[in-house]
Amino acid sequence: MNLKSDISSVKGVGEKTSAVFRDIGINTVEDLIHYYPRTYEKFENITAIKDVISGERNAVYGCLISDAKMLRFSGKTMITAYARDKDGNSIEIKYFNANYLLKVLKRGSFYVFRGYVKTVGARYMMTQPQMYKLDEYEKLQGTIGPIYSSTKDLSAARIAKNIQNCIDVRNEYEEYLSSDEMAEGNMLGLAESLYNIHMPGNEEMLYKARRRLVFEEFLDFYKGFRMQEGGYERPQNKNPFVEVADCKRLEDRLPFALTNAQKKAIEEIIKDITGPYLMNRLVQGDVGSGKTLVALMALITAAANNAQGALMAPTEVLAVQHYTNIMKMSSDYGLCIKPVILFGKMPKKARTEVLEKIRTGEANVIIGTHALFQDEVEFKNLKLVITDEQHRFGVNQREALRDKGIDAHILVMSATPIPRTLAMVMYGNVDISIMNELPKNRLPINNCVVDSSFQKKSLDFIESEIKKGHQAYIICPMIDESEEDNFNLKNVTEFTKELKEHYGDRARIVCLHGKMKSDEKNRIMDSFKDGLYDILVSTTVIEVGVDVPNATVIMIENAERFGLSQLHQLRGRVGRGDSQSYCILVSDAKNQESISRLKVLNETNDGFEIARKDIELRGPGELSGVKQSGALSFSLGDIMNDSDVFMLVINMYDRIFERIKDRVSRRIDFRTI
Ligand code: ADP
Ligand code: MG
Repeated sequence: MNLKSDISSVKGVGEKTSAVFRDIGINTVEDLIHYYPRTYEKFENITAIKDVISGERNAVYGCLISDAKMLRFSGKTMITAYARDKDGNSIEIKYFNANYLLKVLKRGSFYVFRGYVKTVGARYMMTQPQMYKLDEYEKLQGTIGPIYSSTKDLSAARIAKNIQNCIDVRNEYEEYLSSDEMAEGNMLGLAESLYNIHMPGNEEMLYKARRRLVFEEFLDFYKGFRMQEGGYERPQNKNPFVEVADCKRLEDRLPFALTNAQKKAIEEIIKDITGPYLMNRLVQGDVGSGKTLVALMALITAAANNAQGALMAPTEVLAVQHYTNIMKMSSDYGLCIKPVILFGKMPKKARTEVLEKIRTGEANVIIGTHALFQDEVEFKNLKLVITDEQHRFGVNQREALRDKGIDAHILVMSATPIPRTLAMVMYGNVDISIMNELPKNRLPINNCVVDSSFQKKSLDFIESEIKKGHQAYIICPMIDESEEDNFNLKNVTEFTKELKEHYGDRARIVCLHGKMKSDEKNRIMDSFKDGLYDILVSTTVIEVGVDVPNATVIMIENAERFGLSQLHQLRGRVGRGDSQSYCILVSDAKNQESISRLKVLNETNDGFEIARKDIELRGPGELSGVKQSGALSFSLGDIMNDSDVFMLVINMYDRIFERIKDRVSRRIDFRTI
């Protein structure tokens, strides 16, 4: 067996398993050893029930004091049982939709239960814990175990076993870095890294292994970029637009003055699209800096020049919001544009109509999600493509567009600060407009970090804002109770119920989450925007771009569960009008790291500063960071969180080029499972 051997040559991988592996893009042994764990878990020592820490994961060992019982409610089943440990304390164990456990959880049997514990008075509860036999658990205790993304036909444990059976092939890789270079990057050797990413010796080894494998991914990517540098020459602008009076007219009619940063960005864009080369520009502006208007000016210019412009948003909620806003401005200010919206799950009839309008040119501003670039969408004369929150899409828009035969001006708008060098790599030869100024009417957002004992006070505060006619967001990390093994996390379903009870008729409350049908989501978002509700309880579906200037409070539950930049984006949902706004971060996290991270948000409202601190505060302590940018399809690396590794690649590249120039890049995009 070697790196290139077929996947079926791994011991234990039969015909059926090979087929499943192939299905997710794993064909060779090499592919398999680069199938990295999704996350890791550390197996805690077994604790006495009286010593468990509420809100954290614990492992307890006990004997079932009765057979498990089953309850049915709203289409689900719940299994409950009680386990007692040797001190005589007992804990309630709950599982959802796991009827087979009725046969397993029998009176008198002993198990280790491992899961998140919640205490209510003197009652201990654990939801969906993992179960082990004692000797089985004792072997795991203290180790760090990998968790792989699994499918129905391929369990995580099976993948782990298969990888163990072929991990020796890692030694075929030749090391090309010197030990000094590895030390410089705080990385392990390549073969050692492959071993430790799957079977970490300890947290520090895992950290260094991960850095090295991220380095490998970025190096391949950067090499690709450097090798085709010539290909990034700027295409000619064959039919330059002419500047039109419509933009100025809109500016004059707006109820507010454009900020200087907006004026400058608009000027730069107009100069590009009326100039000799196609535009490739990145507008980088913090949340709330008014990027949508800047985009609109470009769209107006294209429309007035008889061309089509597209505006692509990362989520449907956001696309709909752009559409509604732009339609409203179009009628309020008599603009020359004819907008349509297109997204994946539209009713067939409406979709056919929209497609027809795009094809004939009857529509000249086309707003949507990435559904805009599906094969059946045929543009009459697309000359401008704007992507909002670009870091959430893949990279190199121009290439993707060129594949469709479209040579258009490209404008990307992002609230995420990226170092210039990185932007050049991500977007090719790109110009950058920085919008470092918020509209004048904005007051800085007031922040606080509190624990859940402040809930009553927070809710009273929200009520006082509602009385003033304002609105509020409340963000929870989960959708409903059965979603994860950790039921200490707030979920929108339960919390909405609680809030409705708490407020009675003093507040109109609605909930929103990603599993809802898209027209329902849009309806709720619209009603909230129209002021039909006072409080929107939501998951992070509202994270990007949502604009309801009348909302003045955002309360984020379990704030420690979110990345800093993500929290900053969420906070950016308020402070969009001229009233004082507030952000309440709720966290019961006890560890110092979480607390100092959240304090950063307390100290600054500057997105650039936050991104920098976020990176600084990460370290070996964090086994699996929250992927923040989602940009580029790296298996491990995250262009934002790991930007220091990217910089390392850029700095080392010329020095190590001779050693890697013949190396075959192996970028694989595993189908996400
Ligand atoms: P972002 O940069 O986060 O995309 P938006 O474009 O959504 O920001 O703008 C946020 C809000 O600010 C919108 O309600 C918009 O109408 C308003 N706005 C934009 N420019 C200005 C300005 N110059 N003065 C006051 N309000 C503005
Ligand atoms: Mg925006």
